[in-house]
Amino acid sequence: MKIQLLADEVASQIAAGEVVERPASVVKELVENAIDAHAHRIDIRIQEAGQRLIEVSDDGVGIAAEDLPLAVARHATSKLRIAEDLFHIQTLGFRGEALASIGSVSHLTILSQMQGMDIGARISVDGGRIVEQSPLGTAQGTQITVEDLFYNTPARLKFLKKPITEKQQITAFVTRYALAYPEIAFRLVQDDQVEMQSPGNGDRREVLAQIYGVTTAKQLLEVEFEDQGISIQGFISPISMTRSNRKEITFFVNGRWIQDIALTSALLKAYQTYLMVGRYPTAILFITLPAEDVDVNVHPAKAEVRFREPDKIFSLMQRAVKRALLAFSPVPQFSPNIWRTAVPSSSPINLPDQQELNLIPDPLEKIEESSTSVEAGQVAEPASENILFRPSGEIPILRLVGQVGATYIVAEGPDGLYLIDQHAAHERVLYEKMINRHEAIPIQNLLQPVTINLPPDAARILGESLPILQHYGFIVEEFGLNTFRISAVPSLFIMADPAALVRSVVEDFEEDETPLKGMLEERIIARICKRMAVKGGQILDTEEQKGLLRDLETCVSPRTCPHGRPTMIHLSVDLLERQFGRRGARSM
Ligand code: ADP
Ligand code: MG
Repeated sequence: MKIQLLADEVASQIAAGEVVERPASVVKELVENAIDAHAHRIDIRIQEAGQRLIEVSDDGVGIAAEDLPLAVARHATSKLRIAEDLFHIQTLGFRGEALASIGSVSHLTILSQMQGMDIGARISVDGGRIVEQSPLGTAQGTQITVEDLFYNTPARLKFLKKPITEKQQITAFVTRYALAYPEIAFRLVQDDQVEMQSPGNGDRREVLAQIYGVTTAKQLLEVEFEDQGISIQGFISPISMTRSNRKEITFFVNGRWIQDIALTSALLKAYQTYLMVGRYPTAILFITLPAEDVDVNVHPAKAEVRFREPDKIFSLMQRAVKRALLAFSPVPQFSPNIWRTAVPSSSPINLPDQQELNLIPDPLEKIEESSTSVEAGQVAEPASENILFRPSGEIPILRLVGQVGATYIVAEGPDGLYLIDQHAAHERVLYEKMINRHEAIPIQNLLQPVTINLPPDAARILGESLPILQHYGFIVEEFGLNTFRISAVPSLFIMADPAALVRSVVEDFEEDETPLKGMLEERIIARICKRMAVKGGQILDTEEQKGLLRDLETCVSPRTCPHGRPTMIHLSVDLLERQFGRRGARSM
């Protein structure tokens, strides 16, 4: 084929692919422009996860009518003049690409009026071409409307994630910018619902509650650190509060949200000895350093930066985080020593009191570890088939022997010894009581209804799970923005904390888990049961242990928890005899 210059439209679409990858990237570019325009108020309106409509209005400085065609032209910017400027960028934008890129893959309309002017102007762009331009009176500031995003790039449309994921991404983005810029009042409306609103009074704690919910926000530790001209501020989770993924680790560098694997691993190092493998902290940290010390022109979407002295930044960040962790060492929540992971003495910091930093691991992980190690140990043995683990099937009547390590129940049956994981077993029992019932679930009204406040994502998931919850005896209703009121729970759970109970429905969802559409009732109930089951490490009295055995005996599938992990290990008489060498002796 002959070499040819690409037509302008083709070239713009290629470039647009780098800058606007998904609806959330459009929101990002528009919000960043509004921040650069010194807005005090930014309103974001989204329809259909941004595919139908993204509208961002601000009360910033506005764009001069005669500049509008330039604003939508490629490489046109008011933020940079000469190449040298690139090394001390103070604004979020500088590439002059966003509006041109967005305009080439959507129907774009800009309405703007500058401060002190009586009239503004409007410009419309369709698939990269200006189709209309006219003077128009409007409010001071700028309103940018993006309709039918990617209408002319069907391939891109196909790559979009499910609408719920895109919606979450947009919410995650806006809430984090609201936290980074607490002096700006943000308001996000998705499909006519107010998802979040920040007061714009400069108080980060208030925004924090909107993002993470009041309870979590209260627990977060504040980081306030300054050294060698670098400031590190923000919030991190205490070691008792962990997540199963890194999604809640966010960094801002000079007011810009960036992704940086090295920064993330530096943060994880600061937590290293305190967290179980596979558990991650929540953190949102704002790093401020001289503009000359960071290169922001690394990535078309400006999502990455390069530090002039990366090691210095990493070690300062670790110091900042460790200091905050130490200043707020949490009080241990329960006692059995067996669950405590001692902090190794080689730990980089000296703890005032080792006791204080003991870990409370997720009992499930412990179970997983221990059950596999037992099984792995046995696989090599010739008698391995005797570790009876039938995935289903009834169990015989069991006689209680006792509790071991505050975690396992030992019982004897006609066919040998049973080692039962109390947490997994209780999960199973609760689950079957909820699911395999034949009449309506008895419910208990709360003397005092309880209200809970959730982050917007979680609130939406919970909102959509309400009918299922109601079916299972929870009376929960929406009660204002991202707030719910619980007025009754199934009698089975009357001893539980109702807020924790309902929260367990929406905790720890992964980005791509579709909690609603794909989530069966069973999964919601399984989550609740997991949360409500007795934990490993909890001492049970004899009656409780016996009760658990009786309940387990009546289960349809007593041998696994609702998540499929084993509830018990069976050491058969046969196995015991062989292991002790009795089998041979007898037959002789
Ligand atoms: P960049 O932000 O990199 O300069 P953009 O394509 O995002 O490039 O925007 C082009 C120009 O349009 C900006 O430099 C700015 O002058 C103007 N502009 C865009 N959005 C706004 C806004 N919300 N308020 C005022 N001016 C804006
Ligand atoms: Mg911009």
